[in-house]
Amino acid sequence: MEMSHIINRLGEERENYFNAISPPVMQTSNYAFESVMDFRKKISTEFESHVYTRGNNPTVEILRKKLAALEHTEDCLVFGSGVAAVAAAVMANISQGEHIVCVRSAYSWTKTLLQKYLPRFGVSHSFVDGRYIDHIEAAILPNTRILYLESPNSMIFELQDLEACAALAKKYGLVTILDNSYCSPIFQQPADFGIDLVLHSGTKYINGHSDVVMGVLCGKREMIKKIFYSEFMNIGHILSPHDAFLAIRGLRTLPLRVQRSHETCAKLMEALQNHPKVEKIHHPFIDEQQALAVRQMKGGGMFTLALKAARKEQVIQFCDSLENFLIAVSWGGHESLIMPVVTFYDIPGQPDPELPWNLVRFYIGLEDPHYLLADILQALDRIS
Ligand SMILES: *Cc1c(COP(=O)(O)O)cnc(C)c1O
Repeated sequence: MEMSHIINRLGEERENYFNAISPPVMQTSNYAFESVMDFRKKISTEFESHVYTRGNNPTVEILRKKLAALEHTEDCLVFGSGVAAVAAAVMANISQGEHIVCVRSAYSWTKTLLQKYLPRFGVSHSFVDGRYIDHIEAAILPNTRILYLESPNSMIFELQDLEACAALAKKYGLVTILDNSYCSPIFQQPADFGIDLVLHSGTKYINGHSDVVMGVLCGKREMIKKIFYSEFMNIGHILSPHDAFLAIRGLRTLPLRVQRSHETCAKLMEALQNHPKVEKIHHPFIDEQQALAVRQMKGGGMFTLALKAARKEQVIQFCDSLENFLIAVSWGGHESLIMPVVTFYDIPGQPDPELPWNLVRFYIGLEDPHYLLADILQALDRIS
């Protein structure tokens, strides 16, 4: 299916709402039935029916159809946050006494789910260096059920070989789950490589305007249906119809936004590569895993600078000197951001991070490249 069709037409039954081009926000909690028999029929097929908005909602369904098609999957659920999608995908496929193999570089709250939450229910895990397929295979136990991937991750961009992981999972009967937030469905479609469940923090590129927190989970219809009747309906982390409307609006420009973010990112990296105050730039297309990146993904608009700095204060000075980048968590909006690892050092009562303090992550938004580059260069000059 053509991407332009997915983004502009798919799922939009305009004849049902006065041929309006923009879909209505169906701001309703529930739906009336024509008769008791109609009620009986719909309550027993809730996945396919309109009963109550904790289940289905027409505005949300437009978004789901588009996202499923963009990811080359059969169906999709959307959630009130990315971590709700992570939790639903994991919990739907694990039971007491079972084990999860997860990449060590996964999103922080994904790791917290495995380290702090699921052990209460007798679920164990191993973290592995996902760059090496033999490390992943070595961690698989007789009770392993899930292989959890994030390729690339969003700090130093470690990749997993998706095709090899899917083959390994098939051999051992594991469900594969992949966090695809960094690439968005425009730059990587993991289902094409055999990954079972593809998820996103829709908060990032998909909504793309820093005004909605949401999650996305795509896969085969049977699997999505199973999750609908378990974690989705039971835990109830739904996306509101209004937020679905905003995300549909965000999707209209997704290909443009990610392409722009990727291109500006490439220009900045080229200009910074040989700068005397830059020790190294981390990005999937220039790191050691470049060949794999080229094979399975098409782009990405975040890089991480390792600064040549002798003291933490110099990194802080650099970051505080940037005027056209905001210091913030998250990413994927119109505005460029930085996330300095040094922030998480020297916090009383907390261990220092594993990542070195000279790393500063850059998310590249939609500003002019020269506006961003000039700012980075002046801030690098101020390091003393
Ligand atoms: C932000 C993020 C999440 C969590 O998503 P929320 O929408 O914040 O709940 C998960 N994975 C990655 C890679 C992220 O960047």
